[in-house]
Amino acid sequence: MRLRDFPEEELFLQGSAACQGCPGSAALRVAFKALGRETILCVIASCTSVLQSPFPVSALNLPTLNMAFATGGATASGLSAAADRLVASGAFKEKPTILVWAGDGGTYDIGIQALSGAAERNTDFIYVCYNNEAYSNTGTQRSGATPYAAWTTNTTKGKDEWRKDIAQIMVAHGVPYVATASLAYPTDMYRKFAKAKEIKGTRYIEIQAPCPPGWKFPSSHTIKVARLAVQSGMWMLYEHEGGKTAYTAGTQRIIQGQSKLLPVEEYLQAQGRFRHLFSPEKDEMRIAEIQGRISHIFDTLQFTHKMKEHIMDIELAPPR
Ligand code: SF4
Repeated sequence: MRLRDFPEEELFLQGSAACQGCPGSAALRVAFKALGRETILCVIASCTSVLQSPFPVSALNLPTLNMAFATGGATASGLSAAADRLVASGAFKEKPTILVWAGDGGTYDIGIQALSGAAERNTDFIYVCYNNEAYSNTGTQRSGATPYAAWTTNTTKGKDEWRKDIAQIMVAHGVPYVATASLAYPTDMYRKFAKAKEIKGTRYIEIQAPCPPGWKFPSSHTIKVARLAVQSGMWMLYEHEGGKTAYTAGTQRIIQGQSKLLPVEEYLQAQGRFRHLFSPEKDEMRIAEIQGRISHIFDTLQFTHKMKEHIMDIELAPPR
């Protein structure tokens, strides 16, 4: 799939109330193209509740329900069950895709209980977390997704804790499909949505969403920051199904040795939320802590990849 092969129909319309360079609106556009018109959208309180534009106009050209922060999994469970009944009664020819669209606040913190319940029941829906790593729509407070050392309005010297890894928590639920995505790799993102559409049960997709006002970078740099996140290993691209994880796009290229892992400093310096790590003095210790974590993960993955290649190269002697 190439960009030029994306469907032309726009289900995310012009005139949204999003900030310039908003990652949420770009992600909605790609997701809608992959999922198509037969989709019912459930928006959890987040920037999307605002950027869809106020009633009576809307940038969302799909049937949409707006829901409270904590209710993503529960609402999807009801919608999915209702759609099954309508298919059984003949009112619907086919079941539409039930799509929950939530931010990291509504996923990592406030919505995790309902999401976990729905995942445990293997409810038939796609849950998307567009992760801008803070409560951006209320002015950038810390969330469970905020990375270590990042500035927010209530972590002014940098967050002291490492972020939760919700995608891996969803893997632990044993759901049929879990994937991570990046705006800098739109064809990879599109393919993951198109694949999720064809799978039954709970599917979870998490998109890293660099937010210009919250992360403090120019609005024209959204894709550049998203790409640096993958190239530096601060965001990893993979999909998990059938008990196996496959790394994809930029992450796969680093693991396979086709491109180099960039120093994490390049990613940190591209954003004002990490400015305190470089000024008035460079905080060598915290930068080294972050780099150390990433290097350890990639050293392990690259070693495992090389071992697999090596093992496949070994020819077993024929049995005597
Ligand atoms: S605050 Fe960030 S995520 Fe929210 S609408 Fe603005 S750019 Fe998008």
